[in-house]
Amino acid sequence: MSKVEQRGFFGEFGGAYVPEQLQEVLTKLDQVFEQYKEDPVFIEELHYYFNDYVGRPSPLYYAERLSNQLGGAKIYLKREDLNHTGAHKINNVLGQALLAKRMGLKRIIAETGAGQHGVATATASAMFGLDCVIYMGEEDTKRQQLNVFRMEILGAKVIPVKRGKRTLKDAVDAALEDLIENYKDTFYLLGSAVGPHPYPTIVKHFQSVIGQEARRQIMDKENRLPDYLIAAVGGGSNAIGLFAPFYEDKEVKMIGVEPGGKGLSTGLHAAPLNDGEPSVIHGFRTYAMMKENGEPKETHSIAAGLDYPGVGPEHSFYKDTGRADYVAINDDEALEAFHRLSQLEGIIPALESSHAVAYAMKLAPILDKDKIIIINLSGRGDKDVQQVYNMNR
Ligand SMILES: *Cc1c(COP(=O)(O)O)cnc(C)c1O
Repeated sequence: MSKVEQRGFFGEFGGAYVPEQLQEVLTKLDQVFEQYKEDPVFIEELHYYFNDYVGRPSPLYYAERLSNQLGGAKIYLKREDLNHTGAHKINNVLGQALLAKRMGLKRIIAETGAGQHGVATATASAMFGLDCVIYMGEEDTKRQQLNVFRMEILGAKVIPVKRGKRTLKDAVDAALEDLIENYKDTFYLLGSAVGPHPYPTIVKHFQSVIGQEARRQIMDKENRLPDYLIAAVGGGSNAIGLFAPFYEDKEVKMIGVEPGGKGLSTGLHAAPLNDGEPSVIHGFRTYAMMKENGEPKETHSIAAGLDYPGVGPEHSFYKDTGRADYVAINDDEALEAFHRLSQLEGIIPALESSHAVAYAMKLAPILDKDKIIIINLSGRGDKDVQQVYNMNR
């Protein structure tokens, strides 16, 4: 366990606030993870898939035209958008699927909102020959028909959840019920650095390949560490994956970018670290956007993958201890960055990643030319082209 963490807690955040039956399943998972994470054979197998299946290491690209036009710091992009399936999510999914194999579990379940985690999970399940069931709120299946079809092409079974508001929360509940009933042959594959312990720790571990590579790559290119790391924060997995390997390097500043939606003051956002309170949500303690009655608030973001009322517990800890800063970028700013990066670098970023790009666009001009920023380009924007097209009509 890392220094920042004790028994699944990051300061007062994290933990596992779950029913007893579920606690047993989580304890077992924790033991298996602790056993394999340092196992040389496990690591070799994981890296074989990282290299030959995902295409790692992802490049660290100097965005020269963007840097020059902004006229300040040098900007590098960590190109997670070039991964197989187009984003960082595959790193974590492969790691957890390998754990499932080690546990002898042949059935994978997951929940998905926008569908991106569902597609990544269906991808790894196909490649490893595992049965795959994806829970998705019925409303979300209508909004994301193409992703539902993608998962089905990959051989997964998508179950539309027809209860409550028929969105992500209801899908989470359905998946947890499935797990409690079928834990003997089923692995619950979680998509971000959220949920009860040990999930935030597991997801961080598998996503840390991003920061480990970035560290080596910037040393190769610049012979020094960067001044700033910038990443978009939904659940927080791509951000913690970039940040964690730099935790001890106090001179490296970390900035997480939350979706400010239509503006923090409107309440129409998904920025719990900017406008939330410490709460218990989905079985763990973290900053979250909660109503008086203890239910999560409605959230809004132009980027479906950032649209979550909570955040990974380690980010709450980084915030309170001052190790990282968390800012908000609103929909319009993210959209502008989406176009700007596309036109200056020929790279169409995911709308999620565009939030990180937008903040770098504000920061770089006020820094000296000898400063270095690394942006985590968490995913590619192909999936968002239709949405942006519709907004322009
Ligand atoms: C899902 C997603 C995110 C948000 O998830 P995190 O767990 O916060 O990383 C960000 N970018 C892309 C491209 C995504 O698909």
